[in-house]
Amino acid sequence: MSYVDEVYDLVVAKNPAQPEFHQAVKEVLESLRVVIEANEEEYRKQALLERLVTPERQILFRVPWVDDKGQVQVNNGFRIQFNSAIGPYKGGLRFHPSVNLGIIKFLGFEQIFKNSLTGLPIGGGKGGSDFDPKGKSDREIMAFCQSFMTELFRHIGADTDVPAGDIGVGGREIGYLYGQYKRIRDVYEGVLTGKGLTYGGSLARTEATGYGLVYITNELLKDHGDSFEGKTVVVSGAGNVAIYAIQKAQKLGAKVVSCSDSTGWIYDPEGIDVDLLKEVKEVKRARLTEYAAARKSAEYHEKKNGEHGVWNIKCDVALPCATQNELDLDDAKALVANGCKYVCEGANMPSTIEATQYMQQNGIFFICGKASNAGGVATSALEMSQNSERLSWSFDEVDAKLQGIMQGIYKNISEAAKKYGKEGDYVAGANIAGFLKVAEAMKAQGIV
Ligand code: NDP
Repeated sequence: MSYVDEVYDLVVAKNPAQPEFHQAVKEVLESLRVVIEANEEEYRKQALLERLVTPERQILFRVPWVDDKGQVQVNNGFRIQFNSAIGPYKGGLRFHPSVNLGIIKFLGFEQIFKNSLTGLPIGGGKGGSDFDPKGKSDREIMAFCQSFMTELFRHIGADTDVPAGDIGVGGREIGYLYGQYKRIRDVYEGVLTGKGLTYGGSLARTEATGYGLVYITNELLKDHGDSFEGKTVVVSGAGNVAIYAIQKAQKLGAKVVSCSDSTGWIYDPEGIDVDLLKEVKEVKRARLTEYAAARKSAEYHEKKNGEHGVWNIKCDVALPCATQNELDLDDAKALVANGCKYVCEGANMPSTIEATQYMQQNGIFFICGKASNAGGVATSALEMSQNSERLSWSFDEVDAKLQGIMQGIYKNISEAAKKYGKEGDYVAGANIAGFLKVAEAMKAQGIV
């Protein structure tokens, strides 16, 4: 049996009931097959793949807190410090009821390669909790965040592990987490990113993932003699990534006709009104029904079981920006049938493996999340740099660096794909380019 297959079987056996983690590992290992098989004995002797798929440290903890009725609640807390070969662990915290160990491990594993692709010195990590921030009062959110950090603080630090936000963790939560860290540790350091601008945050961090996604999609379009001008774009999600992807795509001349949340989706043939969407989601924290109620041209569709909505809309470009496995084989078939040419992932692993393969085999140019959504973590790394030098850069300065990084990632993944005989396969390009840097650093640092 080949070394790649052996290691995949080992991952499944050693990590039972973690399908998302298996999926992420499978996708990466399949892409790496050509690299590993060229040098199989050396990789096997060094157990490089076994080390790569095993987190350096897994921290699981209890998070007790008191709700507004005086009832004590208990949630699970996680921090997976996956790989620190090229820098301190870096990756977001996700607060969502679906969070479990397998989901955090899949996200942490993806993060290793994503962070490597940015070209910046950051290792891979991820964390979170099954806490559901929806419907909680501000005081309850604060109580939860303080309890979460009361355990997490001992495992993180500006040079050790620097968490950020993710689903359910935005500016408000980062603020409460940071305040508690500072109080316990009595140091003012850049231990979290995504901070507010008054206490060490970076301009353009809020916009970075969505903008970065559109910048790399623009590179892909240009490379194929195309542009955003006049294109119809379908976006899923209505959170941080989706909102700023919609804003930037429209700025570049596209018409974005959809967005979605966990209960329904919007089709707005006139183009999404970003200011209204921001008001509904960022200010009121309300459902998309409110968007539809305030805008004549918008249709609201309730999400039905087994039907994902936005992927059936005719479009040129699709940007999945909600959550993992939101785009399956049927959705991929609908996109191809409707003439969609470009799919770039804003979310982490939003497409199933079958969907990805179908799109790639049927003429869609496809960039996977670990390359196309890397603008968020790259700008987080820029926030770390600003914190270290105790300076803040202007919006334009950060945005220009972000654009340069996304252009660099596109070049890097295209060239890696070409070099290994897989021209146009940006998934293989991303996995190979991300892996080679980490593997080189791991080999240089010995058996640790
Ligand atoms: P947010 O919490 O801001 O938004 C998530 C959005 O997706 C919300 O609109 C949410 O709806 C929707 N959503 C969640 N689950 C589902 C579902 N099952 N079906 C349909 N819609 C759903 O998160 P972000 O925008 O920050 O993150 C989105 C994705 O991007 C995630 O995969 C995240 O890991 C990834 N990502 C984020 C980065 C960042 O910088 N923020 C960086 C890199 C990747 P509702 O409001 O109803 O919950």
